[in-house]
Amino acid sequence: MDQFFRKYGIAQVTIPLPFRLNHIHCYLTRQNDQDWTIIDTGLHRQETLDTWKKAFTQYGLKERDIKKIIVTHYHPDHFGYAGELQRETTADVLMGKKAYQLGKKNWTKENQKQSGQFYCQAGMEEKTVKELVEHDGGFFSMVRPFPEVTHFLQEGQQIQIGELTFRALHTPGHEEGHFCFYQPDEKLLISGDHLLKKITPNISYLGLGDDNPLGTYLSSLEKLGELEINWVLPGHGPIFSDARERIDEIIQHHKERIIETYETIKREMTAFQISKLLFQRELTIHEERFALGETISHLAYLLAKGEIKKTPDSQGVWHYTRS
Ligand SMILES: [Zn+2]
Repeated sequence: MDQFFRKYGIAQVTIPLPFRLNHIHCYLTRQNDQDWTIIDTGLHRQETLDTWKKAFTQYGLKERDIKKIIVTHYHPDHFGYAGELQRETTADVLMGKKAYQLGKKNWTKENQKQSGQFYCQAGMEEKTVKELVEHDGGFFSMVRPFPEVTHFLQEGQQIQIGELTFRALHTPGHEEGHFCFYQPDEKLLISGDHLLKKITPNISYLGLGDDNPLGTYLSSLEKLGELEINWVLPGHGPIFSDARERIDEIIQHHKERIIETYETIKREMTAFQISKLLFQRELTIHEERFALGETISHLAYLLAKGEIKKTPDSQGVWHYTRS
């Protein structure tokens, strides 16, 4: 990774996360000694503060040298510390407008209540719903304060990152307001969570935002497939160079998963029942949310294609059948 700092002024800063996915890669980039940009921030908690402090010392900058904070999308590991970091640095914050709107909405009491209803409609048992809603609430302090976004990112916008000018690419799917950053001369892609090497980015629908995120994600991936890419600098996992191959792998994975989802619906079933059959392993409550969200995004894709139907029962719980 040091080669990227020597060549382009782009350093990777890895921050621990308290999940099975135990880290996020953020980027600390130097335009000049008094002008640095950070991409993604970690959760707002002590380990994150400590890691950034260490990185600032290592690269010899002061907090006031940070002039821009760019957030690829609103998920807590990327967005969480942006607000506090902005307070400390007075930096500009740049992110997608939709991402910001969804982020501000996501961690509120109001949305927590709506999520609870959504989990019930998906057929989750009351006990799990309660646990999950409480778990949702556990994120509130790790994403606050919210940043003041000074610039909303626009598709195609030129942005100075390190010593290079990148192009902002709107890549919805993993999250509706997600942005990647592409550098056409060096063929670098800062991919956020849109394209990862070892993990398939989670594509969830849990009642907020785009109601066919998988369809949107697959289109965004195709769009990325048209670019020549030498290096992908991702939000999680290793830096890699075989972007085209990885894009094809992920598309193939979802095609298989769509078929599997369809084949699981042998009778009338709820989303939660389908999810339990698709994910037959022990899940933490955090992973339970991902599994359900991922299942529903595949169901939503099949619904949009007219392959399946969804009917609510008298309690408002949805039941899925093949068309
Ligand atoms: Zn992430």
